[in-house]
Amino acid sequence: MLKVGITGGIGSGKTTVCKIFETLGIPVYYADDRAKWLMTHDPELVEAISNTFGQAAYSPEGQLNRAYLAKVVFGDAEKLAQLNALVHPAVFRDGSQWHQSQTGAPYTLREAALLFESGSYRAIDKMIVVTAPQEIRIKRVMERDQVTADAVLARIEKQWPEEEKVKRADYVILNDGERLLVPQVLEIHRSLISL
Ligand code: ATP
Repeated sequence: MLKVGITGGIGSGKTTVCKIFETLGIPVYYADDRAKWLMTHDPELVEAISNTFGQAAYSPEGQLNRAYLAKVVFGDAEKLAQLNALVHPAVFRDGSQWHQSQTGAPYTLREAALLFESGSYRAIDKMIVVTAPQEIRIKRVMERDQVTADAVLARIEKQWPEEEKVKRADYVILNDGERLLVPQVLEIHRSLISL
């Protein structure tokens, strides 16, 4: 079964587009959400994070101390790389098992903000990139998360530029608020099921 990845910069509309694919019966693995879940529910990953970042990474009740971890990795590229080196393989394993269990679908979708940046796209058959002009993305995220434009920009700067992602895409969805999403999704769906 085909593995399809869907990515795009913050606020581009990845999740919104995935909801449309879901209405077509396509199973979606939300890798970023699942990563957060695994960081408290995958015993091997929990142990590795505790061993690497100390007991303070979890509360006595087993809750992940996100504020502590964010402080430790903020501005420390080596520590961030260490954390990613623990989380990414765990999500990869979990995602592969999930993919194999989706036997009734023509293909599955894996949604993540950093599919290119993390190198995960190499294990994916086809890539969809959702794109939108930066001013629109900033405005959407400011409204959705009640944050400042500077806070959104700081996150944009940590991601690859949109044009780099578009260059590597098999399919591009333009979500600028003018082009309709449903026809774009249907066209890609038709193409994927005919492969
Ligand atoms: P993130 O990278 O932060 O997870 P995302 O790429 O998944 O973001 P969404 O959460 O799908 O983006 O969209 C960001 C916000 O913009 C949401 O509040 C969503 O409802 C809104 N939005 C997305 N697409 C459109 C659109 N075409 N018209 C109006 N609002 C939109």
